[in-house]
Amino acid sequence: MTALRPEIAEAQQDDASVDEQGPGLVGLHESIATLLASRGQWRQAYQHLRSALDLVHADQVEEPQVPEQLRREVDRLRREHAEAREQSLRDSLTDSYNRRYLDQRLMDLLAEHGACRHGLAIALIDLDWFKQVNDSFGHLLGDRVLQRVVELLQQGLPEGAFCARYGGEEFVLVLPRVDAATAVEIAEAARERVERHPWQEIAPGLRVTVSAGLAYEPPADEVPGRPAVGAEQQLLRADSLLYTAKQSGRNAVAYRADGRVRLAGAASGRRAITETRVLGYY
Ligand code: GH3
Ligand code: MG
Ligand code: MG
Repeated sequence: MTALRPEIAEAQQDDASVDEQGPGLVGLHESIATLLASRGQWRQAYQHLRSALDLVHADQVEEPQVPEQLRREVDRLRREHAEAREQSLRDSLTDSYNRRYLDQRLMDLLAEHGACRHGLAIALIDLDWFKQVNDSFGHLLGDRVLQRVVELLQQGLPEGAFCARYGGEEFVLVLPRVDAATAVEIAEAARERVERHPWQEIAPGLRVTVSAGLAYEPPADEVPGRPAVGAEQQLLRADSLLYTAKQSGRNAVAYRADGRVRLAGAASGRRAITETRVLGYY
């Protein structure tokens, strides 16, 4: 066993003498936290305070006395921790969510999906001819375009929906609790916002459009016996539809309805050129 530093051992002894009278371990953690806090060891102090609180909640004993300065430091540490966590889930260029967040959320949403009565849509969105934008206008301007595209994709999303950077110039819109028609409307509106944006204000001659593949998973009870779908499979479906949108002339949203691939809104008059089929697609 590791030897305790003298002051902590002292605190434990003090506490042991009070043990029979009541506070016991809670008081011990409290004393150690106060001691560590007085030495500016906030993280360790916080850990002892947490242990004290856990014991309080477990035993429903009286709340420990928390010195004001320690309380403030604990609040600060909590805030810093929450901020660091939020930052670790964001993409540094566009501030959209990153792949890590996307993977986690999608897994959770698909797990919930089996038990809920709503559909779940995923749109995989890729900028059209983006290499040319970089080549003609420079990489820095390309970065600004990516930032602006994310702002446009995120506008007016319904509650619970979010945008994540999938990688490079590809983004994913996740739309939980929507029906198929609404999902198509949302994805098509996002595509249109990008097309209509006054890009010439950023650089004369600049034009930016996106293509999207929209995979929709209907409510579990709508198609009884349909096997649960995984995040990877759902993304593969979206990717296959994105490919169709690209092959069909770009600047379009491709989706599947009644077993057929279609193009949404303005592109619906074009013929959807389907090249790939993803196994298990209904
Ligand atoms: P397509 O319509 O077929 O998608 O053509 P594309 O030119 O968009 O596709 P391609 O895959 O050939 O090029 C993607 C480009 O995206 C190449 C890469 O340099 C650029 N890109 C990826 N990430 C970034 C980034 O963070 N910043 C900038 N400026 N460019 C990026
Ligand atoms: Mg791409
Ligand atoms: Mg592209």
